[in-house]
Amino acid sequence: MDNKKLAELLFPTITKTPADLEEIYPERGLAEGARVTRFAPSPTGYLHIGGLFGALVDVLTAKVSGGVSYLRIEDTDKKREIDDGVSAITNGLGAFGVEFDEGVTGFNAEKGAYGPYMQSKRVEIYQTVAKSLVEQGLAYPCFCTADELTALRETQEAEGALIRGYFGKWAKCRSLTYEEIEAKIKGGESWVLRFRSDGDENRRITFEDMIRGKIEMPENIIDEVLLKSDGIPTYHFAHVCDDHLMRTTHVIRGEEWISSVPKHIALFRACGYKAPKFAHTPQVMKIDEETGDKRKLSKRKDPEAAVSYFVEEGFPKESLIEYLLTLISSGFEDWRRANPSVPAMEYPFNLKKMASSGCLFDLVKLNDVSKNVISVMNAKQVYEAISEWAKSYDEEFYKIFTADPAFSTEAVNIDRENPKPRKDIAKWSEVKDYFSYLYEELYTPDYSLPENISKEDAEAIVAEYAKVVSFEDDKDQWFARIKDMCEPLGFTPNVKEYKKTPDLFKGHVGDISTVIRIAITSRRNTPDLYSIIRLLGEDTIKARLADALNFYSK
Ligand code: GLU
Repeated sequence: MDNKKLAELLFPTITKTPADLEEIYPERGLAEGARVTRFAPSPTGYLHIGGLFGALVDVLTAKVSGGVSYLRIEDTDKKREIDDGVSAITNGLGAFGVEFDEGVTGFNAEKGAYGPYMQSKRVEIYQTVAKSLVEQGLAYPCFCTADELTALRETQEAEGALIRGYFGKWAKCRSLTYEEIEAKIKGGESWVLRFRSDGDENRRITFEDMIRGKIEMPENIIDEVLLKSDGIPTYHFAHVCDDHLMRTTHVIRGEEWISSVPKHIALFRACGYKAPKFAHTPQVMKIDEETGDKRKLSKRKDPEAAVSYFVEEGFPKESLIEYLLTLISSGFEDWRRANPSVPAMEYPFNLKKMASSGCLFDLVKLNDVSKNVISVMNAKQVYEAISEWAKSYDEEFYKIFTADPAFSTEAVNIDRENPKPRKDIAKWSEVKDYFSYLYEELYTPDYSLPENISKEDAEAIVAEYAKVVSFEDDKDQWFARIKDMCEPLGFTPNVKEYKKTPDLFKGHVGDISTVIRIAITSRRNTPDLYSIIRLLGEDTIKARLADALNFYSK
């Protein structure tokens, strides 16, 4: 067979050669040890939390090595795509501050010298490599129809063949002559391009996975499809061409691709390319609420599988990143304790120390991490972040919250900007309810009392407090006044004393404060009550006490 002639027949419009591609996309000339990584999602219009997890690993791996990370969009699977699936990805990454050095930056936008970074715009590149494989006898057109392939599969099943697929004696298009191929093409038959594998089922390959260590598998013997009938590459072929020509040094991707590595290694070899290093990351799992079993985070069942969920809920970007880093690397929490104020992206990440098994995504832990993150923000940052979130996701609250910026900044500053800040808010969507008592428009009184306090006692406490309340007090004076109220009302200012002899008292000073707190805020638990009283001011406090008194006295 004249392979050159066949290559011309199959790819008449391709004029470049792989050598041209080498020139267009030269080696990057980075310093020794610098790693080039990529995040390569398909544009499904949805960024999975596992995607953000992977993107972080890519960016950190490149960053700690002084290398380059880039974003490539793998849009060769037309079936799975939606119109502008790219924005969901770039917006999702952008919302959490994950930035790549190169690649796609938005809908129809990209930066970097190794592009285009959308696979659909690289068809000429794949076909150039494909043509050269045909010239070398390493690829051939296959005209088998879907029905023929189904029949092949059924025969293999019936025969109990151990290895199934298009290979060896089953690969009937392997041996077509030039004349047969030409006749079929002239007859308008459609074809795919297949790899001509020289693999041997008795041989094994080994490779070193950066996360999992040495992995050994049988060599690939399948004549894998490289180009589909529309000339668009399969994932496997595009991966090999792109990761070589974009000069990726470390392919970091989900563990579902491990079984394809033998195929990829065979293709890298056939193309004359050096295979990159591989690292297969574990899947992001959760404990199923119903069964208690570990399972993959599912797009269908779990709202938190979508990165957009965290934006909508108002988790600060730092919180999610910080939390994902605890999942990505067991050393992160220790590092964080030792470096409390260093930005998370400065973490000296080590791919080799990543856990290889399913990591559990735990919303409760995320909430805790986020409370910590928010607790150390200053009041101005918190005010601005809440405003920005509310502007997009809760217009009503946005208007209320931003009507008096000084008031709201003061509100979020209660128990903040001190060495032991309160850790109460995990996400911005909680704030409206959390602070509802500070805004008349949001406030609905609820005077229900804890079981140990009677309505009569509540009435007496509120009546007495309304009498003694002074807006000149400093915090100590304020508290002294509450303590002074205790004994005449049958309570004790001394909690220890109460615990020793509870029968002698109706309750202790904590109960008195609780009643006052409920009268003013309708909550049993709030940040510092003294600050709340100062913030709400005399008129509001007097009106609230009067309303509560009215309620208890009926
Ligand atoms: N487009 C592939 C996916 O979304 C990427 C796999 C890879 O990173 O190579 O699963």
